[in-house]
Amino acid sequence: MSFLSRMEPNSLNHTAGPIITSLLRVGVIGDPVAHSRSPRFQQAAFDALHIAARYELWQTSADELAARVASLLKPDCLGANVTIPHKEAVLPLLDIVDPLASRIGAVNTIVHGDGYLYGYNTDAPGLLRVLAENGVGEPGNTNESDPWKRIVSLKRYTAVLLGAGGGARGAAFALAGAGVERLIIVNRTLERAQRLAADIQQDRDCQVFCLSDPDYLIPHPRSIIINATPIGMYRAGDNEQATKDAAPLPARILERFNADTFVLDMVYNPTQTRLLIQARILGLRAVNGLPMLLHQGALSFTLWTGQPAPLDSMRAALQ
Ligand code: NAP
Repeated sequence: MSFLSRMEPNSLNHTAGPIITSLLRVGVIGDPVAHSRSPRFQQAAFDALHIAARYELWQTSADELAARVASLLKPDCLGANVTIPHKEAVLPLLDIVDPLASRIGAVNTIVHGDGYLYGYNTDAPGLLRVLAENGVGEPGNTNESDPWKRIVSLKRYTAVLLGAGGGARGAAFALAGAGVERLIIVNRTLERAQRLAADIQQDRDCQVFCLSDPDYLIPHPRSIIINATPIGMYRAGDNEQATKDAAPLPARILERFNADTFVLDMVYNPTQTRLLIQARILGLRAVNGLPMLLHQGALSFTLWTGQPAPLDSMRAALQ
């Protein structure tokens, strides 16, 4: 069974599904997590399906990660989402990691089933669903044997991926799987971008640059620019104005891209980042991280409960 099939309702390889006798718990593990919108829309999903569960914020430092993950084995716990910066560190703490998440090297969803902890990556298919929803690429073909191409085909597209951490790793594998012609990885730490490029190991044009040298970026037609760094993300205690002014790419670089360029900023707090504002001023199509959050969260919900996610209720709660 393919990894994406396992994310389809009622076809899970672990025994998931709510035992509605007492209040169940699920939450998001990260540092920081205060900004997370996951409680809002995941709670709406549980409520819409009358599942007695509470979605919580689990602020967790790197030192606390192992104990937090072990606590997911409590009988009332369905599992967790994992966010910045633990998506990679969490892998060795799990019993079984889905082959896709294992190849990506990042887990954003943990499921507690049969006394074991299972790890999945729903960021990757969630990102492709957003591209498909926005008319980027060719619509997925349900007869495709390749599960990525059932969501969307990105033949002849160039992806410029800013970042090489957990979110970026999922994006890189998804983009490569959907057939992107060229993948350009731009990261603050060049070696991490090089490692990701080597891990993709598919027969495609893959370039790496340092985020401090954006002048090397040559724009191509049909480009997709994805920000998978936290630049522009507001965290409690940050200088609000400095966050608003921060963008991962200078405007003079963005200006070089054609009008058919699509920009996706994985950041959703604030909903209007500097990158998105600059892109829209230039007439480029641009979306924030909320639709991706919705789709990765919907897939996580199905993994925890075995139920189709009530997308409309979840989307309404995110507004
Ligand atoms: P992560 O694993 O910690 O990776 C962070 C990445 O950003 C690394 O490549 C890191 O570069 C780079 N970075 C961090 N601080 C930077 C700075 N000040 N300047 C330049 N580069 C910097 O985090 P993640 O889980 O991938 O998350 C990254 C962002 O994506 C977060 O804002 C997160 O909320 C967002 N995200 C959103 C969704 C969604 O559904 N909307 C899904 C996934 C992620 P180095 O390698 O040099 O450290």
